[in-house]
Amino acid sequence: MKMEESKDILTGLDRYEEFLRKLELEIQKMDDYRIAIIYTDIKYFKYINDTLGYQRGDMLLKEFTSQVTEGNIHMLCAARVFSDNIVMASRLENDISNEQFREFIHQHNLKMEERFREKYLAARLKFCTGISFISKEDRRLDPATAVSNANLARKAAKEQKDDCCVLFDSKMVEGIKKEIEITSSLTKAIENGELKVYYQPKMETESFRINGAEALIRWQKPDGSFIYPDEFIPLIERSGQIIELDYFVYQEVFKFIAGRMKEHKTIVPISVNVSRAHLNKMEILSYVRSLFEKYRILPNLIEFELTESIYIENTEKALELIKGLHEMGTKVSMDDFGSGYSSLNLLSRLPIDIIKLDKVFLQDEETENILKENDKIIISCIIDMARKLRITSLCEGVETPEQSDYLSQIGCELQQGYYFSKPIPRNDFEMFMDQNSRARELVLA
Ligand code: C2E
Ligand code: CA
Ligand code: CA
Repeated sequence: MKMEESKDILTGLDRYEEFLRKLELEIQKMDDYRIAIIYTDIKYFKYINDTLGYQRGDMLLKEFTSQVTEGNIHMLCAARVFSDNIVMASRLENDISNEQFREFIHQHNLKMEERFREKYLAARLKFCTGISFISKEDRRLDPATAVSNANLARKAAKEQKDDCCVLFDSKMVEGIKKEIEITSSLTKAIENGELKVYYQPKMETESFRINGAEALIRWQKPDGSFIYPDEFIPLIERSGQIIELDYFVYQEVFKFIAGRMKEHKTIVPISVNVSRAHLNKMEILSYVRSLFEKYRILPNLIEFELTESIYIENTEKALELIKGLHEMGTKVSMDDFGSGYSSLNLLSRLPIDIIKLDKVFLQDEETENILKENDKIIISCIIDMARKLRITSLCEGVETPEQSDYLSQIGCELQQGYYFSKPIPRNDFEMFMDQNSRARELVLA
């Protein structure tokens, strides 16, 4: 290979193929020391390109690569993998522990960040690094696998708020295997009927009658075991498949309501969850519209739940979505209120209909779910505020009669939780509805 072919033009570092070749040689001749693979990328680099222009972006990248390879380490080789992803290999003596080395790189990153943020007026810029190690015993390790391990650690670093430097852990490979297993089997699982919609009733505080229900997805494997939403939803949110799943749930719910109406059976409004992924595409509005056209159900029988964090991350898009849903005549709720950094002024800015207080207010292992005085004050203030803003209040995660009584006292209009019922399969929910219903008038309305 000619010299210029083996180098990256912009940074002057090796090209990735050349890096792997050199690393393989280094691994073969390794002696009584380790090799550290350090994989770094720049968080918000796209933002820098977009705001400062590509020329400044290129300058930053060049300066970054010249500095990432400097410092007190014995560098063996370095390459630009693509874009702002830089990998290097360094020799590491055995008297330095993995953690000491991580701390060293971490401090180096912090120093670079400070310098770069000032110079490029990029306040959010952050270097995220993952590190893996090769010891004499892993001589047979494929260099690309060592890099991929460091890259997995780098991804973990990118997801963390404070720590920008993470060491590779073999559990990360297990995590990826699981992720691949889940994301690759989702579509088939839907076709095979492994995914089912469960319903959790919502009760009216005053009358204790059923007022509605939330549709929650359940994945039951052919061996009978369940995979719970908290386990697979974050993974399919990353892969974008959550949209497919949400549409499946909406379709099932519309079908269910239409079926009950056709048989002149009682029905209550059903709420469905809206993943944050919809905000990038906004096809959800036309999809829901097509469901209304197909199933011909009343718009007040469907509600949409968007979690608090969606409104905070992307207020404008959330507003557009609420408006679109309102135009169809459906209600929208703010889910998980109080679980994150709630922004109270959003409540007055966004035309939401229902506020769902997160279960964190009620759940406390220490006090075995007995409400603490401070929590009581906060809950009653939120309920009071909701009433004044003419927003319906619902508290989720109600597990005990005492909690339910307290919510009645302070005028929380709706309650949902294990105290009344867990999420249950469709047939059980139909029985629950028939026993607790007040809803015939909704069908006839
Ligand atoms: P969420 O929307 O906040 O749903 C409420 C969760 O609280 C449900 O967990 C429900 O089973 C649980 N829960 C209800 N009452 C109680 C109670 O009294 N005590 C306790 N400890 N938990 C209670 P689940 O079904 O495991 O769902 C977890 C999350 O996954 C949901 O949180 C929602 O964000 C998401 N999810 C579930 N189904 C869907 C779906 O079809 N689409 C989307 N986008 N997300 C979904
Ligand atoms: Ca919800
Ligand atoms: Ca919730």
